[in-house]
Amino acid sequence: MRANPGTLVRLFPLPTFSWLSLSFTLILPLLAVASAADNIQVFFSPNGGCTEAVVANLGRATTSVFVQAYSFTSTPIAKALADAKKRGVDVQVILDKSNITGQYSSADFVAHANIPTYIDSKHAIAHNKIMIIDCKTILTGSFNFTKAAETGNAENLLVIKDEAMAKVYTANWQAHLEHSQAYDSGSTRTAKTANPRK
Ligand SMILES: [Zn+2]
Repeated sequence: MRANPGTLVRLFPLPTFSWLSLSFTLILPLLAVASAADNIQVFFSPNGGCTEAVVANLGRATTSVFVQAYSFTSTPIAKALADAKKRGVDVQVILDKSNITGQYSSADFVAHANIPTYIDSKHAIAHNKIMIIDCKTILTGSFNFTKAAETGNAENLLVIKDEAMAKVYTANWQAHLEHSQAYDSGSTRTAKTANPRK
């Protein structure tokens, strides 16, 4: 939708230097926004499609899903992770230590889906909310993977499709995995619990 400068100059007779100034001032920022919008989406809660966006992106995963979560109580998102695992996707989850409770927790739910689950106890709070899908798509923002985050809170979720950025996130995820402990639900978990990192 670029207007013909000549036409505009005739309609609004500005000196040439003014037109160029306007071009750089007005058109270039618009192009940058359009470019960013091609590979970045944003969703807002409550009830703004965050959960649906996470589930849809997990449904398209073909090779790997690496997760960092502080809290994890969303049934549809947990199910989408379990479904990906069943399809043969390499799904691995790192959770904050607050998920270790005496009761059945989301860590148990994830672990019972044969998803390798780890607890990162090295920080005051392991507060990241990240999914890295197929090493090319990043889901992140304030949005916890919980029902409350979808229905009750004011949150944001970015879906970023950028392989270079995904590499940076994956490296950071690996660094946290290195000092995380395999979560043992004490039951039927059979997946890659042989991970030596303790
Ligand atoms: Zn860590």
